[in-house]
Amino acid sequence: MRKFEKSVKLNNVCYDIRGPVMDEANRMIAAGEKILKLNIGNPAPFGFRAPDEIIKAMAENLTSTEGYSDSKGLISAREAIVEYDKTKNIPNVNVDDVYTGNGVSELITLSMQGLLDYGDEILVPAPDYPLWTASVTLAGGTAVHYLCDESSNWYPDVKDIEKKITPRTKGIVIINPNNPTGALYPESILREIVKLAERNDLIIFADEIYDRLIMDGKTHTSIASLAPDCLCLTFNGLSKSHLIAGYRVGWMSISGNKSNATGYIEGIKLLSSMRLCSNVPAQSLIAPALKHLDETRKLVAPGGRVYQQRECIVKLLNDIPGVSVVKPEAAFYCFPKLDTKRFNIHDDERFALDVLRNKKILFTHGGGFHWEVPDHFRIVYLPDIEVLTEAATALGEFLADYRQID
Ligand code: PLP
Repeated sequence: MRKFEKSVKLNNVCYDIRGPVMDEANRMIAAGEKILKLNIGNPAPFGFRAPDEIIKAMAENLTSTEGYSDSKGLISAREAIVEYDKTKNIPNVNVDDVYTGNGVSELITLSMQGLLDYGDEILVPAPDYPLWTASVTLAGGTAVHYLCDESSNWYPDVKDIEKKITPRTKGIVIINPNNPTGALYPESILREIVKLAERNDLIIFADEIYDRLIMDGKTHTSIASLAPDCLCLTFNGLSKSHLIAGYRVGWMSISGNKSNATGYIEGIKLLSSMRLCSNVPAQSLIAPALKHLDETRKLVAPGGRVYQQRECIVKLLNDIPGVSVVKPEAAFYCFPKLDTKRFNIHDDERFALDVLRNKKILFTHGGGFHWEVPDHFRIVYLPDIEVLTEAATALGEFLADYRQID
């Protein structure tokens, strides 16, 4: 009998966010145990509700969105995205340059499939949102990880990027604001990256899905606004800012210098039409959602849930001996560091499993984000303050006498 195996490409995909720790959590849940999930950026289970206007808009549009749309998306949605991009000073985007997707995820995969040949390299941050590395690998390319520097607020290390550019490098991924670190990059760093991209003819892939979840009065700069001479693909969506991760709605705007990218853009168009179109009722939310940003702003302002939860978790984590965390400025993640000597930690996945089994708390170890040293883990601080406090207390108790055995 013929055996049906995973393809070689799929075997090489490291997408550790699903892995032994997740399998163990599922086993425990099936056995009736209650687990606190701090592992996934999905706001709805933690009592976050989408703004009423958004739900109303979707309900009103249901009957007019029963059919397929244009494969790039509804004109009304793409016009709203063009207007949004103008507010971010992203140059020369018109409705033809915008593609809607079933979440940003689909478009990340599509953008890599349309570009990469075997041996092509894409610079991806470490730590990364692992779908980027997985998509590069699945498309036949090689993800080359550049460092983000914890001692500089987790900003990209531009020297490291420069060192890793080779004749096979086709593009660079910038995740800003960042998952898993919650970092927001300053314009000066973005400008340095643009210079490198210009000098080396790199495509910029800018994942900006958290650009509306910024704290401390800071503002977000779209890297595409600084790079009119580069080809830029900017990714954004409503999963996080409008708390509707389950509706699956995202988009991608192509900006800057498109003159040498006719073939690539044809490929993107082809792949876009092969999936017919993205979820049409969800597309109908884009225009109203991009006008209703007040509720999002309230979440990240002092007194808002995301802001208060950040203040709480950062303090609690930094109070645990052997744990330190850089204060995130955006999104709802932080990426704490463990003192590996103190805890004798040599395997971060093992650490995550030990916490899960002992304290029934699920989080993702740093390796799941292509962070090579076993000294970090990611916390999603979406649960309310009471739950976060319980979790941090339990973690502190666990670590008080934890020593990893070889
Ligand atoms: N990009 C980043 C940086 C993310 O953190 C996520 C989800 O967590 C995504 C993309 C995927 O978002 P979507 O729900 O739009 O597919």
